[in-house]
Amino acid sequence: MGPKPDPFSGDQTLPTRASVVVIGGGIIGTSTALELAERGVDVVLCEKGIIAGEQSSRNWGWVRQMGRDPREIPLIQESMRAWRGMNERIGAEAGYRECGILYLCESDADMAAREQWLDEHARPHQLASRMIAAERTAELAPGSTIKWKGALYTENDGRAEPQKAAPAIAEAARRHGAKIFTNCAVRGIEKQAGRISGVVTEKGRIDCDAVVVAGGAWSRRFCTNAEVELQALNVTSSCLRTEPLETDLEASAAGNGFAYRKRLDGGYTVAHGGLSVADIVPDSFRLFFPFIPNLKAEWPHLKLRLGKRFIEEATMARRWALDSVSPFEQVRVLDPEPVSSIIEHSIRNLKKAYPAFEKMKVAQTWAGCIDVTPDAVPVISEVEAIPGFFISSGFSGHGFGIGPGAGKLTADLVTGAPPCVDPAPFRHSRMTDGSKASMMAEV
Ligand SMILES: Cc1cc2nc3c(=O)[nH]c(=O)nc-3n(C[C@H](O)[C@H](O)[C@H](O)COP(=O)(O)OP(=O)(O)OC[C@H]3O[C@@H](n4cnc5c(N)ncnc54)[C@H](O)[C@@H]3O)c2cc1C
Repeated sequence: MGPKPDPFSGDQTLPTRASVVVIGGGIIGTSTALELAERGVDVVLCEKGIIAGEQSSRNWGWVRQMGRDPREIPLIQESMRAWRGMNERIGAEAGYRECGILYLCESDADMAAREQWLDEHARPHQLASRMIAAERTAELAPGSTIKWKGALYTENDGRAEPQKAAPAIAEAARRHGAKIFTNCAVRGIEKQAGRISGVVTEKGRIDCDAVVVAGGAWSRRFCTNAEVELQALNVTSSCLRTEPLETDLEASAAGNGFAYRKRLDGGYTVAHGGLSVADIVPDSFRLFFPFIPNLKAEWPHLKLRLGKRFIEEATMARRWALDSVSPFEQVRVLDPEPVSSIIEHSIRNLKKAYPAFEKMKVAQTWAGCIDVTPDAVPVISEVEAIPGFFISSGFSGHGFGIGPGAGKLTADLVTGAPPCVDPAPFRHSRMTDGSKASMMAEV
């Protein structure tokens, strides 16, 4: 089982009408619902399982500008502003702390690669990211057996608590008038004269003018049933948390084959950092061509696996009638098995680099399914062919940090307000108009 998000009990009686229905209670759906409710929009959020049951409680909790694709930089800057004021805004603890993040460099080649991102992307946006030398690195990440050449460091990057943030944001959205339903899968959409007129949930129908699909690893399946192409594949990432541990390591850091982040409970969330599992499933073949141009860049970080996931996906419905049980009701919480070899690797690498972790006790291991688009940039967009149908999904492994910003942009698009950042890089039509997906060169 994954980590337990803070408890959240939502509303009971499904309304027959709302202006906007948000599908999915992760960081994206809850942030969107909060933004809409604060603006006085009549919004309902439906979550098939529990709030933050999937990626949004399972991630490392890094809130970073550093290493971002340039297309995401304005949005993460918007998001950083939101995180800084989050506790005050929601009247609760989302766990945000400005701890700084380090990408540790062992060689001159590592330094040069990080420097390139800095030159090309950080400086034009005036990010606080900078290269630091060996001595400063040793001060910020003390006690290493490795003589780091230096690091890429962003002092005003931070961390937040994945098990706390989305439930707390959902509570705040409710206080502003949003209605939130858990154990309530949305089976599909209804249209009138080509535009959204409602959704059908397992608990009944809701008339609405707009729908936001924020279903994470499920968004593609939802869209397929609505005859909308959303290109995304799921990869499984594994991590662990330790019992509270005394160390001097406050800033989050990633080195070769390990990453750590201090938690509010005094423990650490630890991961390999550079390795995930891509299960071969029927969609791997359907989406072969959109993904192939960027596979080379991702290859060193992916372990391909052919196993039971292929059968599970192959036998799961891609089309269903709205009066029948949907796949979303069959899997309330997607809970993949952590990959023990990757976990063991990360522990070994971390202990070798930082002996302070020798005495750590593993409290829990888990995995999460990450929805990745071919260019590793999300879709935050209305679908041109269906007015009122919005997608905010495909956050490709970095959606927690950017979540509050993405919620704001989504709400802007839904309400027709001037968008907080240029939404063009996130347009859905890039997946249907023959645009070639291009990924940022890796840093
Ligand atoms: C191990 C791991 C580490 C990560 N580390 C980081 C990190 O450090 N920093 C970072 O920024 N990002 C990180 N990420 C990525 C980040 O967690 C995700 O990008 C982000 O949480 C996505 O949020 P979401 O709301 O789109 O999806 P989710 O949190 O997955 O939420 C989607 C929700 O939609 C619900 N749903 C789906 N379909 C339906 C339906 N039809 N009806 C009702 N409900 C539905 C699901 O049950 C689910 O709860 C990591 C991810 C993983 C797995």
